[in-house]
Amino acid sequence: MTTKRRTIRPVRCEVVLHTKPIPCCELLPHGRDGLLTLNDHDYVIGYWSELPAQGAPKIRGYQMTHIDGERSYDLRPVNGTLECECNDHLFNARACKHILCCLELIADGKIAAPDVSNDEPCME
Ligand SMILES: [Zn+2]
Repeated sequence: MTTKRRTIRPVRCEVVLHTKPIPCCELLPHGRDGLLTLNDHDYVIGYWSELPAQGAPKIRGYQMTHIDGERSYDLRPVNGTLECECNDHLFNARACKHILCCLELIADGKIAAPDVSNDEPCME
């Protein structure tokens, strides 16, 4: 008896950051996207960020857009890690290449860590 099982390949994450994304600031109210290569594919990476009346911009997450422009993924901080909206993360319940990529860039100090302080009341 054989059991058919979908093969799930291990997640590969080889990332090269070419230009750093910049969160929104007074000079760049919308911030500026950066460029990276992940597993031989080029992505635009940007921050979901907001500029409070005072102090540093707050990083609320990241957006990775494949250079073909057709695939774009939002990554949000949840419980000390990130959540992604790609199928690999949603269906295989694991850290996908986008999450690993962002965590690696954060660990290396190449992009800013998300701001998880809960200083605004949640209206949900
Ligand atoms: Zn993903």
